[in-house]
Parts: sequence; C-alpha cells; structure tokens
Amino acid sequence: MKPLYKLATLIFPDRCPYCNCLIEPERIACPRCFEILRQKHIPLSLGVSGYRCVSSFVYGGKVRRMIIRLKFYDRTQYIPQIARVTVDDIKATFADIGFDCITYVPMHTKDEKKRGYNQSELLAKALSKELSLPCLDTLDKIKRTKKQHTLTYSQRRKNLSGAFKAKEGVDISGKSVLMIDDIITSGATLSTCCKALRRAKPKMICCATIASAKNVYPEESVI
Ligand SMILES: [Zn+2]
Repeated sequence: MKPLYKLATLIFPDRCPYCNCLIEPERIACPRCFEILRQKHIPLSLGVSGYRCVSSFVYGGKVRRMIIRLKFYDRTQYIPQIARVTVDDIKATFADIGFDCITYVPMHTKDEKKRGYNQSELLAKALSKELSLPCLDTLDKIKRTKKQHTLTYSQRRKNLSGAFKAKEGVDISGKSVLMIDDIITSGATLSTCCKALRRAKPKMICCATIASAKNVYPEESVI
C-alpha cells in the first residue's frame, strides 16, 4: 500500500456500506454482511416500459439502510464498493450489448444543491470508470416533483410528466446508452427519463440500479 493511501485510509477508513463498520481496504463489505448479501444477491432483470433493466438487490433490510445512509447521510464513500457489485451484474445481464456511454437520472438543481450531490451521478461516474465508458450529462430535471413513494403508479406518471428534458446539444444519436439510478420502485422515473432521452435519438437505452422494489412493479411494465 502506498504511504499516502495508507494515511488516507487512516483518516477516511473504508466502511462496510451495509452496516457501517470499519473494513479492510478493497473489500466490498465486512465478512458478515458479505455472507448475507451473497445469499441475497439475486440480480433482477426486468423490463421498464419496454426498456431492459438490471437491479443488483431487492430493496429491503441492509440494502435499504445502505441506500438511506447514501442518500440522506452523506455516505458517498460507499459508492466504489457498490459500483463493484453492480458492474458485474451489468456485464452479465447486458453481455450482448456494447454500450457507448453511461448517463444517469438527474436531480432538480435546487434539490441537488440542498443534498450537495446526486448519488445516481456519482454511481454512474464510478461505473463509467469500471466499464471504461464515458459518463454523459444528458438530462435536466426541469420540474420539481412530489415524493414518489406516497403516490399510486398513475399519479407517479402524472407527477413526472414533463419533469425531464434532454440537454441541448447532447450527442447520443445512434448510440447504446446505459441509464443509472439508485433504486427502481414503480419504474415511472426511469421510463420517463428514457422517454425524454429518446428525443436525442439513441440506438437503445437500458437501465441499471442498485436495488429494486420488485413487488410494486405494475404488471404491464414487466416484460
Ligand atoms: Zn457490514
């Protein structure tokens, strides 16, 4: 280990994303969580309004607590470890696709300013390094929306209507794009983003998330 890195890990030691205990550098989880997650790691390959999507975990338990810490308690240090799990699922699920670039579900600028970061963007950037693909900033969230979890599926679609817009000058024409989000619940957010991005005429869009609340998928969106 390089001396500077050793010093950095003493100041900012790696932590298990799933229980927050200290872990050895380069590990993706502590031994206890690793064993639990190994059993729970059942990547889901689902369709979101016709778009293929892979999720590494079902949302709940340790994965739920990890996402809450990541989103609301500034634990962005978990991102590299999470990316190393998700990248394997992306490679296995989309082995037939040669992606040209990665992009992500954006936050409204006011919400991102308040949080200080967009966890989906950070995850997309970590995945872009793992996959050696460019990470492109392709969408803007132009409308602030209500919290999705309190709404029904049709209310979610209505809430998100017109919320996302492809950026001017974004060049993804004819390209295969991988869209990243942290969690998929109803699929409404990802399908709205894919729809907005289609205006830039990509060849195809597929999606990947850390977790999926698969039991709340509306039947018609599952293919
Ligand atoms: Zn742990």
